[in-house]
Amino acid sequence: VKLVAFDAFRVGAVEGDQVIDLSSLVPVPYGGTPYAMNAFIERIAEVGESTIRSAAGKGEGLPLSSVHLLPPVPRPGQLLAAPLNYRRHINEMASSKHVPSGLDREKTARELGFFVKASASIVGPADVIELPNLPGREFHHECELGVVIGRTARAVTREAALGHVFGYTCLIDVTMRMAPGFEEERAMRKSYHSFTPIGPHIVTADEIPDPTDLAIRLWVNDELRQQSSTANLIVDVAELIHLASAVTTLHAGDVYATGTPEGVGPIVPGDEVRIEIEGIGAMRIPVRTRRW
Ligand code: MN
Repeated sequence: VKLVAFDAFRVGAVEGDQVIDLSSLVPVPYGGTPYAMNAFIERIAEVGESTIRSAAGKGEGLPLSSVHLLPPVPRPGQLLAAPLNYRRHINEMASSKHVPSGLDREKTARELGFFVKASASIVGPADVIELPNLPGREFHHECELGVVIGRTARAVTREAALGHVFGYTCLIDVTMRMAPGFEEERAMRKSYHSFTPIGPHIVTADEIPDPTDLAIRLWVNDELRQQSSTANLIVDVAELIHLASAVTTLHAGDVYATGTPEGVGPIVPGDEVRIEIEGIGAMRIPVRTRRW
């Protein structure tokens, strides 16, 4: 099932060119709030994914073109992200002018764990990436598989980890690169408003039984910049959840950015970024100058 958040924080299933409103499944008092999808996901963990299908079969459809799509999880409690999780991306960063101090190529997401981005950096498929006006700085696209957590995960084994996944979405981890004379924390460089577009929907995990070989691509305008597969993840989805859940508790609706393959590069106002992940979907996000 493809799930969306739309209009005034309604939850829906996409079927063809229709959206079936599933908001009646959102527990009180979360309906119509930014947390509707989190509560919906938690509820589905209790009642089963088949509930979505039966509800979608009875629901009334709205033309997809008539609704305003929000980020599929507008307010995740946590937005975790893997650093350095594709070998060729590690290699490109090791020789990048943006890492003047150099990079230890042996340090991957397995050794480094995760970092956090502000969850308020999330925007949706109908939004734009807004670049702050900071002369001399570069802003890069990172093309990533986003994982949406389905139920509380604490100290879960690698074997049990995928059972805690609700679904998958496309995620762009926009990053202000380091520059000489600046020392900003990575968390801040990646947390500007609109620096985490996700969407256009969540594909539930039952449709992606094996997330370990999904083609992942990103274009800027018509130029293919990134092309890889989740087969190249150093730490795969199951192990990311296993390792993170040994550090903290993951909750329904949390989002995990799994890391970027090689080919990261600058985006500037006027560009359009397109991300596509096999079996999940695609979205186009324009890039503009921030006006505030
Ligand atoms: Mn990233």
